[in-house]
Amino acid sequence: MNTKRLTIAVSALAAALMCGCARQDDSRVKMITEATFPPYEFMRGKDIVGIDVEICRAVAQKLGREFSCETVDFDSVIPAVISGKADLAAAGITVTEDRRKNVDFSVPYVKTGIVVVYKKKDGFAGPDQLKGRKIGVQGGTTSETYVLEQLKQEPDRSRSPAEAVAALKSGRVDFVIADIDPAKNCVKGEADLAISDFITSEEYAVAIKKGRPELLKAVNETIAEIKADGRLAKWIAEYTAESDKLKDK
Ligand code: GLN
Repeated sequence: MNTKRLTIAVSALAAALMCGCARQDDSRVKMITEATFPPYEFMRGKDIVGIDVEICRAVAQKLGREFSCETVDFDSVIPAVISGKADLAAAGITVTEDRRKNVDFSVPYVKTGIVVVYKKKDGFAGPDQLKGRKIGVQGGTTSETYVLEQLKQEPDRSRSPAEAVAALKSGRVDFVIADIDPAKNCVKGEADLAISDFITSEEYAVAIKKGRPELLKAVNETIAEIKADGRLAKWIAEYTAESDKLKDK
């Protein structure tokens, strides 16, 4: 084998080892999300937009790569980075110890939590009131975990916070549990509905396949930069205003 052939063979072997089951495309940063979660990700016509999209686009810019974004159901978001279908998962993903077993998390970019959406006529005095009642949640979320682990009952699963709130309005469920921002968006303009204070304290971060330290470093540096230069605060304000307006239509 001449030197050139040997080099090709060695690089092919290295590439195969690096790629695992899915091919790693280094020309692009592929983001995976679930675009029913305003203001973090939602549809503007055919485009997926929102705070998380801006964060991942800023990572791609930092790395000098193209950027693409796809939306799937929330329970398929983390599996997509594990399989290598996507490089970054950002979907208002709460950092949990369970998820940490399967993916690496960036530094957090938002402190937040889940709340109860209730009918004003029913009121909401505290989590004890939820026991034994029908609770709507978006499947695969920390709201689902809350119902399973804290209330020790089965939730009614929907594909989005808005669908869960529609089930509350139609009377199929008695309460909805969801992250505060999409919950606020859903109750906007709904005179009969209200939201509680936080019932948990959570943090959002970007999820990355384990064993990609350069990508993790780039995401962490990007988050530090967008926090420091005011971009993150600006995106939060702009996308909250935009998604509130969509609700008004
Ligand atoms: N923060 C919640 C979670 O990670 C919900 C996220 C979402 O529905 N997009 O489970």
